[in-house]
Amino acid sequence: MRNEGDAVKLGKSAAATDPGRRRRLNEDAYVCEPPLFAVADGIGGAQAGEVASELAAATLRDDAGSDGSDGRQRVDSLIQQANRRVYERQAQDAAVSGMGTTITVALVEDGSVWIGHVGDSRAYLVREGRLEQLTEDHSLVAELVRSGRLSPEEAEGHPQRSVVTRALGTDPDVDVDTFSVEARPGDLFMLCSDGLTTMVDDAGILAEIDQHRDNIRAAAKALVRAANRGGGEDNITIVFFEIAGDEHDGERTMSL
Ligand code: MG
Repeated sequence: MRNEGDAVKLGKSAAATDPGRRRRLNEDAYVCEPPLFAVADGIGGAQAGEVASELAAATLRDDAGSDGSDGRQRVDSLIQQANRRVYERQAQDAAVSGMGTTITVALVEDGSVWIGHVGDSRAYLVREGRLEQLTEDHSLVAELVRSGRLSPEEAEGHPQRSVVTRALGTDPDVDVDTFSVEARPGDLFMLCSDGLTTMVDDAGILAEIDQHRDNIRAAAKALVRAANRGGGEDNITIVFFEIAGDEHDGERTMSL
């Protein structure tokens, strides 16, 4: 039990990224600068995707300082700013015209984890041995599943599963999903690109995390290896951060 006023503390964080086995370039980018974390998956051929995702990540790093607004506003304004930078660049430079990127951001503040999300990268929470997907994919296939026109099984191997319906860079303004999760001691949060989730199912992800729960850097690397074993068809990026456990009450090992 936490007492009123006890702030949860950010624990360790770690990231891993890999081009996978089929692609020459890595068009994913990430931010792992506590208390700010993000994964961006670039869209657009001829290296444009790489430019878009790195521009979005760099914008987050540059603008991350606190400006007094609450977590939701900060996450939203960081993503809006990243969107404007990608939009303006692709509008001005024919070499990267049409580029875009997904973005999934997490900001830890005052005991809450604020999530901002556009596209089909994902945020997950591992709590009490369960893996919960926190974000909804903004993808054609996910929308067809939500409206009941496609089964989750049909979605898995769907040829258009990488088509996103929302991305940074396509319009001057972007519609951002924002929400918060109240952090608990021992929580593990994961941000990742679709190069992990299309190659490894939830049970496989959880098994790798369980095996390396004491070393999240090793867990991130193990997930990259698992995605490559599964085919490695896309770039793979994983960012982990944990909420420090309360060492005094043994809560993490207690099962109910
Ligand atoms: Mg991808």
